[in-house]
Amino acid sequence: MTVQEMKAAACRAIDEHGEEIIALAKAIELEPELGYKEYKTAAKVQAELDKLGFEHRDGVALTGVVTPIEGRSHKARVAIMGELDAVLVPGCPTADPVTGAAHCCGHNAQAASVIGVAYALKDTGIMDELDGDIVLMHVPSEEFVELEFRKGLIDEGKISLAGGKQEFVKLGVMDDIDAMIMQHSIEAFEKDGKTVMAFPYGAGGLGFVGRLVRYTGKASHAAMPWQGINALKAAQVGMLAIDAQRETFSPQDNIRVHPIITKGGDLVNVVPSDVRVESYVRGASTEAILNAAEKVDRSFRAGADAIGAQVEITKLPGYMVVQECAALNKIAYDNLCGIFGEEHVVPKDAGVSTDAYDLSNFMPVCHMYIGGAKGVLHGEDFKIEDPQSAILNAAKAMVCTAIDLLADGAEKALAVKESFKPNMTREEYLSKWCGL
Ligand SMILES: [Zn+2]
Ligand SMILES: [Zn+2]
Repeated sequence: MTVQEMKAAACRAIDEHGEEIIALAKAIELEPELGYKEYKTAAKVQAELDKLGFEHRDGVALTGVVTPIEGRSHKARVAIMGELDAVLVPGCPTADPVTGAAHCCGHNAQAASVIGVAYALKDTGIMDELDGDIVLMHVPSEEFVELEFRKGLIDEGKISLAGGKQEFVKLGVMDDIDAMIMQHSIEAFEKDGKTVMAFPYGAGGLGFVGRLVRYTGKASHAAMPWQGINALKAAQVGMLAIDAQRETFSPQDNIRVHPIITKGGDLVNVVPSDVRVESYVRGASTEAILNAAEKVDRSFRAGADAIGAQVEITKLPGYMVVQECAALNKIAYDNLCGIFGEEHVVPKDAGVSTDAYDLSNFMPVCHMYIGGAKGVLHGEDFKIEDPQSAILNAAKAMVCTAIDLLADGAEKALAVKESFKPNMTREEYLSKWCGL
């Protein structure tokens, strides 16, 4: 088969099984689960892989599923990733009524699109023509949330890192992978008079560090607060001090600090003695993030100092700033143009954060953004409106990019690898950024 014939066969298989692939996304949407708790979601993915007869490794980083598919030779190995976790948006119509979890980041579409790739590679003869392997990865916990719960898992030794891809690196799952491809769903938008349906560039993706803060005061009757130490007041002063720093953040550093109080007290007639805060310090460069984080830590401490409370700040490695792999993005760009038409593919900065960007610091990563969603990302109205685009076209874009990489002696995969200049090694990533 020529490369074009392989791509056509892959796209045909995805279209032929479109209904099943879209039904999987719907089933996952209706049982949303937060990171490192995606057991039902993983079971749905495993059932699809079983149906297709692919062998898979389960329970990787608690809930992850890894499915290696071998080519005729093994000159390179490409990972295609989808995420399993939801976010907490209780007001979303499809939110879980008990937990409030909802797929307002579209990971249900991602997980299903990777199964779309599985359909494309099953009985189409494509793998017999490729000189490398494709490893499908359903990865837990992209959303860096519920920091207290995750710290508990770390303390229990169940995981080492809060992000699922971070944990995959720690577990060695990425050791033999030469390039990684994935995508997030977006709402189509207008730019330069064009309707943009897709873009492959993650430039401008922000990094961040995480903070889990615990203020300890002294409980007393709320009618006699002079007998206590109010931990909530300490947290309020700490957050005010952060706000006082904002004018010192330079615009080009894109610093965003957005603390939330996850526990503000126990009973209304007791002076709060245990208050918890979670925050990110986001920014456009590692240096700027660390600089701002120092100001944030100082502010949190100042709150405790002012009130006479105690504060414990747990520093969590968040996600790194993206490093763009131009050679890999160009291959993805050409495939997106083939699927959506050149007039609907426009390079654009991403502006968000993901642990996919961590990987981009030591291996070629292509993170595409593909239209078909509607509504505000992480908002109540976010949904997959056009599954043909968000799920099936996404699967086509990923598998076609992988075919390009691994066809003809895996020439393009090896060239991408050759052109890529890592910022650090995996080992440096784990020791310097993750602190392991
Ligand atoms: Zn998200
Ligand atoms: Zn996401």
